[in-house]
Amino acid sequence: MTRPELRLSSDSLRANIAAVRRRISPSRLMLVLKDDAYGHGLSWVVDTAVQAGVEWFGSYDIRSGLAVRRVAGGDVRIFAWVTSTDGEIDDALLNDIDLGVGTIEYLGRIVARASALGAKARVHLKIDTGLHRNGVLPGDWATAVAEAREAERSGIVEIVGVWSHIAEASDAEDDAAQAVFLDAVRAVEESGVSPTAVHLTASAASWWRPELRGTVSRIGAFCYGIRSADGPELEGIVPVASLVTTVTEVTDDGVFVGIGSFDGLPSTLAGAFVGTPGGTRELRSVTHTASLVEPWPGARVGDEVVLFGAGAHGESSATTLAERIDTVGEEILTRLTARVRRIVLD
Ligand SMILES: *Cc1c(COP(=O)(O)O)cnc(C)c1O
Repeated sequence: MTRPELRLSSDSLRANIAAVRRRISPSRLMLVLKDDAYGHGLSWVVDTAVQAGVEWFGSYDIRSGLAVRRVAGGDVRIFAWVTSTDGEIDDALLNDIDLGVGTIEYLGRIVARASALGAKARVHLKIDTGLHRNGVLPGDWATAVAEAREAERSGIVEIVGVWSHIAEASDAEDDAAQAVFLDAVRAVEESGVSPTAVHLTASAASWWRPELRGTVSRIGAFCYGIRSADGPELEGIVPVASLVTTVTEVTDDGVFVGIGSFDGLPSTLAGAFVGTPGGTRELRSVTHTASLVEPWPGARVGDEVVLFGAGAHGESSATTLAERIDTVGEEILTRLTARVRRIVLD
């Protein structure tokens, strides 16, 4: 093995999906796939999740949504929420991708493209509940709903969802956001439609705050076995990916391994703990294509060193590494470059 490997466990992904679904039921899981499925590889994740019965995928953008459609076939629902170009809207409409709509301007363009193509757009209207990260402001909500309803009556649009995103920083702020959200849902219902997909929460709030869950929960991190930074361990959730490299040289200074910052390993991780055949050891320094690890008795060229994973060799999880450098586990995974080979274990 001359390149580092990201080893992926289908069993672990399936187990996490099952644990999340049990926890959030009767809310339905929408598996979030942004950033190439949090660095795990979109095709493998979608294929494995479809076999596990996942019905909803959150693709982030339309381009990724098309990739999901190619892998998953026609039966699953795909939700793409990034405001996109007219050409991408056409692709979404022709491939049955649901669209998240956070501005009246975007709604207008979707209506125009659906009308030009003779297609019906399935839309999920987004209310801004205070994050100011895309979303119709409460003061504009009635106008947005009226325009969507008018297009619906012309057969161009179907309002299938209402959604928003919350900060998950404090319970009080999330409660206030939910109140704004529920008012928005009520306004849509009073206009004469009952959206079936009502979704507000991501991993942490879906897991810990059942009262905030809608009919659908958009979950990425926990399905991949990535716990929240500074958050507790999660029952039944295990890391899906392990990052493994091999010893390239054993010297008096320590053990050199074949992974570095060019692979996406942050050089600021020096001082973190990794798994070796001799147990937990310190990662002493990270250079471009190699790193130095504290030695263990009998270290040999070719030995495997685990940068993060399920802990079987004394290694940390991606989130534990992330906490050392004040970031989140997702970032440790999504920074890995194409030099890191993705290998499916089981
Ligand atoms: C990334 C994202 C999610 C999933 O968040 P996790 O914390 O990884 O579960 C859900 N909704 C939106 C809008 C997102 O951008």
